[in-house]
Amino acid sequence: MTRICSKCKYENRDDYDYCAKCGTPLVEGLQPRNIRIINADPQVNKKAILISYIITIFLSWSGFIINMFSKHSNLGFFTFFGLFLPFYLIQAPIWEIKKHGYIQLFIALVGVSLSFYVMLH
Ligand SMILES: [Zn+2]
Repeated sequence: MTRICSKCKYENRDDYDYCAKCGTPLVEGLQPRNIRIINADPQVNKKAILISYIITIFLSWSGFIINMFSKHSNLGFFTFFGLFLPFYLIQAPIWEIKKHGYIQLFIALVGVSLSFYVMLH
């Protein structure tokens, strides 16, 4: 015996409660199946990403910027903190965040290099 779908006329197996083709209940009194679509593309918090850029730039370039105003400052060592956030972001499971981690790592490395360059010269 088969269960014929009232909606699409598809012949379903006897033990099926829902139509295999369209999901319509085959048994009277059964609630229509709730199909929950899971968002495969999780939303990335753009505001948080923006803030992380500001922090990374501020930290990693601070030695360079401060040295422009006051020479013989040892704040270049402080710029190493600018590498923490990019390294943290790189470990993210989502590529959208990982990508920003690599961009920030590049920004931070340039900033740290410049900070040390001006500090040691
Ligand atoms: Zn059907």
